[in-house]
Formats: sequence, C-alpha cells, structure tokens
Amino acid sequence: MNIILIGPPASGKGTQAEKLKVKFNFNYLSTGQMFREIVKQDTELSNDIKSYINVGKLVPDELTIRLVDEYLKKFDDNILLDGFPRNLFQANELDKRINIDYIIEITASKDTIVKRIVDRGVCKNCGKNFVISKTKTNICDACGGEIIKRADDTVEIAESRYNDYLQKTYPIINFYKDRKGYHKIDGEMSADEVFDQICKILEKKI
Ligand SMILES: [Zn+2]
Repeated sequence: MNIILIGPPASGKGTQAEKLKVKFNFNYLSTGQMFREIVKQDTELSNDIKSYINVGKLVPDELTIRLVDEYLKKFDDNILLDGFPRNLFQANELDKRINIDYIIEITASKDTIVKRIVDRGVCKNCGKNFVISKTKTNICDACGGEIIKRADDTVEIAESRYNDYLQKTYPIINFYKDRKGYHKIDGEMSADEVFDQICKILEKKI
C-alpha cells in the first residue's frame, strides 16, 4: 500500500506521517527530511542540490526527482510520501514510478495555517516540531536539544507559503481527486481526530 499526504504547510501532515509510519510500518519518504540529510553528504547529487538550497532557491524538479528515486530504489512497497509530489510535473513523474493506493488531502484555512506557523518551534537538534504556546520549556522532550523559532516563521512568509501552495501544489488535487483512493480530511480537527479518520480510510472502514 502506497500513500501520499497532501496539504498546505502546517496542515499537520508531518505529525500524521510520523503516527502513520509507526502504526502501519510505512517506509516514510519526506522530501523535507531528504533535503536535510542530503546537505550533509558530499556526492554529485548532493552538491547539485546544495547549490540551490544554500542560496535559498527552490530545488528544480529534475533534481528532486533524482533524489526521490534514490530513496524509492530501496523499497518495493508500503511507501508513505510527504512533500512529494509538490506540483503537476512531479505527480506525473511519480505515476511512472509507483502505484498510489491512497491520496490523503489534509485541508486547513489560511487563518489556521498562519496562526500555526507563527506559533511553531522546532528542535535545533532533531527537527521535532513544537507548539510554542504549549511548551513549558525550550528543551526538546525527545532529544534534549534546544527548541527555537525558525526565522522564516513570520505572518508574511506564512501567507506567501500558503499562496504558493494554492498556486503550485493545489492543482494536483484535481489531478488525483477522481481516483478511487482520494480522500479529503478536515485538518482543522485535532491531530488525534485527523489520525483516526486516516486510519479508518486505510483500514477500509470508510
Ligand atoms: Zn530534539
């Protein structure tokens, strides 16, 4: 069973992916994580990718796909994709590579997204996400690292990222929405409720 999660930034995709990975034993492929790992490497592909990341530019599709291919090679099945495909071109390329059983769209309003992004913290060490207004200390409970606020988690940048999502990523919903495995979930619900809904879908209870 291969599934993809689609949703705007801060829709809770990452949280759901982590929970799904544990429950269903998915091979979790997050392009965000892939990029974080690859910048620590010194290969031709990593250096090509770094030349974009280091100057704050979007990594071109062709390189992103080469990176995803590196990971897909390792697994036959049971893949959970997060952050890919990000646009129609990537969605078409993915179709050539694997069969997608479920497409889960997690929705949330622009207001919710902006509020969540501005209230977001991240562990400097392991990358775990936190809700700043709900944390009592600035120490990560997973690894003891320091929780910081990303410099780009501002209202302006959050709005522009949401608009970017609507423009570039949202069109892939049309690409997928008539497929049998497509499901839309209200990401305004709590993380537990969203998770429960996704589990019901994957366990074919819906
Ligand atoms: Zn940590």
